[in-house]
Amino acid sequence: MSQEQMKIPQATAKRLPLYYRFLKNLHSSGKQRVSSAELSEAVKVDSATIRRDFSYFGALGKKGYGYNVNYLLSFFRKTLDQDELTKVALIGVGNLGTAFLNYNFLKNNNTKIELAFDVDENKVGTKIGDVPIFHMEQIEEKLREENVNVAILTVPAHVAQTITDRLVNADVKGILNFTPARLNVPPTIRVHHIDLAVELQSLVYFLKHYPINVENEEEEGMVNP
Ligand code: ATP
Repeated sequence: MSQEQMKIPQATAKRLPLYYRFLKNLHSSGKQRVSSAELSEAVKVDSATIRRDFSYFGALGKKGYGYNVNYLLSFFRKTLDQDELTKVALIGVGNLGTAFLNYNFLKNNNTKIELAFDVDENKVGTKIGDVPIFHMEQIEEKLREENVNVAILTVPAHVAQTITDRLVNADVKGILNFTPARLNVPPTIRVHHIDLAVELQSLVYFLKHYPINVENEEEEGMVNP
């Protein structure tokens, strides 16, 4: 990653995949330019934030012209490493894990689940959606062999930490944690936590206690406590 790209704030970096997906759709429909207002409407981010985000990419929209779709697209492709396929491992082939194995991540991004692991003898040795399922005993060996350093965790919460420690030992650098467990990792490892039950509960809570006021909707982050 170049010095320039390192300076993008984290909040902006998190929106990159969203922008990228929308611009790809625009590009395939033959559009050459897009205004921040159009982008704002499509990705539901206010246009001032979009203009500020894009200024970090060196994309300065011209008044009455907007942004050049090709320029932005090639910038995002490079920044998001879309030219390179990122291999991902999935641990825990239960209901959620199985759904992920059947889901085609390649549709929108350049990531692919290459390997899966479980302890259930009925699952080990089989394949789901082309992805082979190996026994946990082989995890360190397989991850190293295939040079995988991103993992999705869909195991029961009580085994999540022990498995995480093994992933760290096997040189995994990023973990997408779908278990309710809070994971302890060394500071060099990045964990993104998605607790579906908590997210759903929080949505229901917000619906009850923070009815959406259309006039204030534009003010980003207002409803977040
Ligand atoms: P299922 O209906 O297949 O049981 P689930 O999502 O309800 O799915 P969980 O109990 O959450 O089941 O387990 C998810 C998966 O994690 C299961 O396939 C289970 O075999 C697997 N698993 C359990 N313990 C471990 C472990 N220590 N290492 C790897 N995988 C494990």
